[in-house]
Amino acid sequence: MPVTISSARTAGGFVKKIKELSGENLHLCYQCGTCSGGCPAASHMDLSPRQIIHLARLGLDEDIAGCRTVWVCASCLACTVACPRGFDLSRLMEAIRQLALRKRADHVGPEDIPPEKRRELPQIAMVSGLRKFSG
Ligand code: SF4
Ligand code: SF4
Repeated sequence: MPVTISSARTAGGFVKKIKELSGENLHLCYQCGTCSGGCPAASHMDLSPRQIIHLARLGLDEDIAGCRTVWVCASCLACTVACPRGFDLSRLMEAIRQLALRKRADHVGPEDIPPEKRRELPQIAMVSGLRKFSG
């Protein structure tokens, strides 16, 4: 699939917003892939952490929008500790989630959890999960 990259995109609203929300310099990343190699959740992701950074800084938000990766990321910081460039990928993942949730599109809402599961799940898991997955 052809991808069009333009300065309008790389300097566009999506890139500005994720920079502002994450506080991270997206240009630090040199695409070595160390983050993807050490991510404990990578096998459940459809885009690797390395790919997320690359798509994000190119302003290709529509390629990120429907992906599982940012929701699967457990913010464990393994990638941040290992990154030779000091890039905090968990902050970028959080920024992308925040932008999605601000569109009032919950990834998982309370109504998506079956009543029997609601009774079984520890309250702390419900609260922390809904804080991550709903706006
Ligand atoms: S480890 Fe750091 S420099 Fe390497 S791809 Fe991941 S974020 Fe980029
Ligand atoms: S913070 Fe997210 S992307 Fe980084 S290693 Fe942990 S689960 Fe993977």
